[in-house]
Amino acid sequence: MSDQQTHHQVLVIGGGNGGISVAARLRRQGVKDVAVIEPREQHLYKPLFSHVAGGTAPASITVRPQRDVIPNGVRWIQDAVATVQPTSDAVILESGERLTYDHLIVCPGIQLDWNRIPGLAEAMQTPAAASHYEFELAQKASRLLRDVTGGTVVFTQPDGPASCAGAAQKPMYQACDYWRATGVLDAIRVVMVVPTETAYLPPFDEELQRKIDEYGIELRTRSVLLRVEPDTQQVVLGGPDGPEHLRYDVLNVEPPQSAPDWLKASELSAAGSSGGFVEVDPQTLRHPRFPNVWALGDAAATTNSKCGGALRKQTWVLAKNLSRVLRDKEPTSRYDGYAVCPFTVSRSTVVWAEFDDEGKQKPTIPFAKRMYRESRLSWVFDRHVLPWVYWNLILTGRV
Ligand SMILES: Cc1cc2nc3c(=O)[nH]c(=O)nc-3n(C[C@H](O)[C@H](O)[C@H](O)COP(=O)(O)OP(=O)(O)OC[C@H]3O[C@@H](n4cnc5c(N)ncnc54)[C@H](O)[C@@H]3O)c2cc1C
Repeated sequence: MSDQQTHHQVLVIGGGNGGISVAARLRRQGVKDVAVIEPREQHLYKPLFSHVAGGTAPASITVRPQRDVIPNGVRWIQDAVATVQPTSDAVILESGERLTYDHLIVCPGIQLDWNRIPGLAEAMQTPAAASHYEFELAQKASRLLRDVTGGTVVFTQPDGPASCAGAAQKPMYQACDYWRATGVLDAIRVVMVVPTETAYLPPFDEELQRKIDEYGIELRTRSVLLRVEPDTQQVVLGGPDGPEHLRYDVLNVEPPQSAPDWLKASELSAAGSSGGFVEVDPQTLRHPRFPNVWALGDAAATTNSKCGGALRKQTWVLAKNLSRVLRDKEPTSRYDGYAVCPFTVSRSTVVWAEFDDEGKQKPTIPFAKRMYRESRLSWVFDRHVLPWVYWNLILTGRV
């Protein structure tokens, strides 16, 4: 494959969790000409960002050079897509280059909308606010949560689509566990702001609420962050009882998120109904109007909760279906809406929440319905086993 090649049998937009795994799976299934467009030098394992902020993982283990994760035989085009032209099977890169394809897989992830909340972007530049949704800010969050010994700490989860939405809570529980161990928990007022009716989803609420009560966390349900006033270290929250002003000593925010702007503007999203995400059949992951376009991961308008656990199944389904279509057969594999959110409820235990797109429990191990109970084993799996599985088996298309 030459660097000058401008046409590919399969072109993948985004070399994150979804793009690298699906490219590797396709290569394993014998697809010869696969190229991945990815601008970043570094590949990130984002699920560990929560552990970084919570003080149970160093940031260095969340990142590897992108060149090391590009599967053998796959071409890496280090550029970013500016526009997609699905009617002419082409993408235009930010460098101005035009590439064409037989099949396109769209997985550029989700966009963090820092400017959607007044004062939020500015607050991130100040010493008291952070977010574990970005690599640098996760390290800042870790330092802030470690060093605070009193006052008010506010954690917020946004309304609307989000990548592993429940991750907003993870560093909070870990920090509470640490503050309890160091004897300062009683001196810290902890406020968690969630847009939902309950802590998360009914099958897991009781277990999470038990931890919330244990740590004395003030849970604000049906609430959102409306504004940050970084100069006076205040947040304005919107909730069922009207706006509430809170002064914070530390603020950790999961930012509002949406489809990347260039996707919102493209023909790939369904006007109005998909929120700018790529319209796909949620089971086959094929575009309903452009049959040689596929999408998965955070950028796809599927019905599941967006997360890496969903991708493990989606990459399998998409690679199978696309391989069949390349052999002039119908796609027969179906994604079932599976999602997972491992809540690190202390520095050594996890509540392993697995569920479907209706919020009902969906344990990977059949009949293991008690998997959601706070467990030390789940923590070992989330903190130590899964990262190894990610770098060695998921990104290489083996699982
Ligand atoms: C803090 C945090 C904690 C999480 N915890 C968990 C967890 O515990 N369990 C779990 O299952 N999931 C978790 N997730 C979610 C999981 O990380 C995502 O669902 C997953 O990474 C989505 O994969 P993706 O390939 O769709 O997007 P990404 O992995 O974000 O990859 C998208 C890639 O596309 C590239 N890109 C962007 N724009 C362009 C462009 N214009 N052209 C070309 N390339 C582009 C980006 O550089 C990026 O590399 C967490 C996420 C976060 C942020």
